[in-house]
Amino acid sequence: AIELQNVEKSFKDNLVLKGVSGQIEEGKVLSIIGPSGSGKSTLLRTINQLEKPTSGGVFFEGKNLVEATSKELKHLGESIGMVFQSFNLFPNHTVLKNVTLGLVRVKKMDEAEAKKTANDYLTKVGMDNKADAYPASLSGGQKQRVAIARALAMKPKVLFFDEPTSALDPENVGEVLKVIQELAEEKLTMVIVTHEMAFAKKVADKVWFMQDGQLVEEDTPGVIFNHPKHEQTQHFIEQVL
Ligand code: ATP
Ligand code: MG
Repeated sequence: AIELQNVEKSFKDNLVLKGVSGQIEEGKVLSIIGPSGSGKSTLLRTINQLEKPTSGGVFFEGKNLVEATSKELKHLGESIGMVFQSFNLFPNHTVLKNVTLGLVRVKKMDEAEAKKTANDYLTKVGMDNKADAYPASLSGGQKQRVAIARALAMKPKVLFFDEPTSALDPENVGEVLKVIQELAEEKLTMVIVTHEMAFAKKVADKVWFMQDGQLVEEDTPGVIFNHPKHEQTQHFIEQVL
């Protein structure tokens, strides 16, 4: 679905992505792991065009996004959903409204259709009973499930997660991972940056190990976690497992 060709990104004279190439396959789960500062978040942001690559190509369904018009990019923005570590819910709106807002504004649904759609997705993540609650009254795990429902309601072709469980109390991690696992079983294309190695091992079809702005090693979870080929990967895995 998405192809990266030698993607570079620098901030001023700091080269943060040093030529990343690879394929994000449709219907598969890609997990990106690597040390802090290795460029994982920057890579996600560069793929979905929140950041413009300094050079290289990002091809989505054959179209190079780096050369796309703003109209094409708007369309793309609706095709790639994003779930953040910090949920990014609107605090002044109810759970239901958090989900309906994008449906009304971007998808141009009428209020009734948006509510029905929002309720369907809140039910999917087990949050329909909190539709009238405000984000502040929810646990981290509940907030993250609302954020996932909000992203799903937009019917993205690909869903990106940037450390979706890092801000959660340990007892709330499982409920969020369960939702993501269900989406994997439904063959939603997902890219998940995570520190949850056991989860990556279980749910990912492919794992990318990044270090120092480079994609050092790409393989199945079995290889990456049990017998990685590169010394840097071995070193990282030894530290985190
Ligand atoms: P973590 O695991 O801690 O989230 P990461 O792998 O996601 O780390 P990035 O956030 O992508 O790493 O950061 C990679 C490098 O890019 C860091 O050195 C960071 O300081 C730098 N960087 C990221 N965003 C910006 C920015 N907007 N402006 C300047 N430098 C940035
Ligand atoms: Mg990050």
